[in-house]
Amino acid sequence: MNFDFSSDQRSLREQARKFLAEHASSTRVRRILEGAAPYDAELWRGMAEMGWMGTAIPETHGGAGFGYLELCVIAEELGRSLAPTPFSSTIYLASEALLLVGSPAQKKRWLPRVAQGEAIGCFALAEGPQVATPGNITTRADDGRVSGTKIPVMDGDVADFAIVVAGEADGRRAGLFLVDLTGAGITRTSVTTVDPTRSHARLVFDGAAAEPLGAPFAGWPLVERLLDRAAVLVAFEQVGGAQAALDMARDYALGRFAFGRQIASFQAIKHKLADIYVAVELARSNAYYGAWALSKDAPELPVAAATARVAATEAYYQAAKENIQVHGGMGFTWEFDCHLHYRRAKLTGLMLGSARRWKDLLVTRLQAGAA
Ligand SMILES: Cc1cc2nc3c(=O)[nH]c(=O)nc-3n(C[C@H](O)[C@H](O)[C@H](O)COP(=O)(O)OP(=O)(O)OC[C@H]3O[C@@H](n4cnc5c(N)ncnc54)[C@H](O)[C@@H]3O)c2cc1C
Repeated sequence: MNFDFSSDQRSLREQARKFLAEHASSTRVRRILEGAAPYDAELWRGMAEMGWMGTAIPETHGGAGFGYLELCVIAEELGRSLAPTPFSSTIYLASEALLLVGSPAQKKRWLPRVAQGEAIGCFALAEGPQVATPGNITTRADDGRVSGTKIPVMDGDVADFAIVVAGEADGRRAGLFLVDLTGAGITRTSVTTVDPTRSHARLVFDGAAAEPLGAPFAGWPLVERLLDRAAVLVAFEQVGGAQAALDMARDYALGRFAFGRQIASFQAIKHKLADIYVAVELARSNAYYGAWALSKDAPELPVAAATARVAATEAYYQAAKENIQVHGGMGFTWEFDCHLHYRRAKLTGLMLGSARRWKDLLVTRLQAGAA
């Protein structure tokens, strides 16, 4: 396979990079980090005007009807700039669930609003720190109502609707449910995480009205499918963030002189930068493979998604951590931006399940393919 982005997609990247450099500077990111606002509403409106939320939503539902490769391009730039918006929850998960299995009425109700940036969605899966499985989900759906506690739910405090993973009354099968979060029987509490530029909440459902999404209790394969698709898009965010951390480290090493020499001339620093570079390039090529599989809905997607996820999580964490080291004592301080990437690297590494979960999945899927 010889995959690369087209010239149109590359010009979309340039346009997105320029827009985000202006509207999602680190000063703006820090305003969300240190302030009370859960996300940058002005940036969100600007992104909607650029049409980004509707990138992969068909024109019949108010979107731009481009595709997943364009969405990957935007995701990479959002990751590079650390954009503090609810894009990932709304687009990679909530809107994606609607696109995959929503009824015509559900799509008609929510997708045009999502495409316009007027509705925020979230995906409520986790019920605490353990890996969510069909066996340990305790949230229940029965007779059009859902009850249970979900934590952490990214953007759960600001979302208009949630895609909730719940089991049927006897707990044997799981399914997806669409919940309008403005309805009754829902309590939301913001929770603190390592990265306050992406807000999180605890959602308690107490008999909240819930519509089945897709066939009732269609089961765990649908949850896995959604997570696989999101994994590719989040991998692009991680690659963008990793590249930005590498760029910061390189620039600092070239500009900082010790003993009359640039610290970039010391072998210890060169090795660090070279190791980050290799990790980022590996992650990038795996993300490209994932982009191809996502855009074609190829049978290779489960393996490609897990590979992209593992490589991107490792690259971003390594780049963010080593960037602090290259900056020496300064890297440790609040004033430098190194910690912004460290926080985001930690968060994106956990948001779809830990690296361990994805490594286990990758091994299982490769073994299944080899059998
Ligand atoms: C929490 C904390 C507590 C501290 N406490 C103390 C303390 O009690 N006393 C004290 O004196 N200092 C202390 N420091 C400062 C610490 O010693 C310096 O941060 C450290 O020496 C790095 O120097 P620098 O920050 O000027 O980085 P720089 O000199 O800018 O170095 C940046 C990077 O280049 C590397 N580097 C620099 N020169 C070379 C070289 N010749 N060869 C290879 N690599 C090189 C460094 O290892 C680092 O990774 C503390 C720092 C922190 C973060």
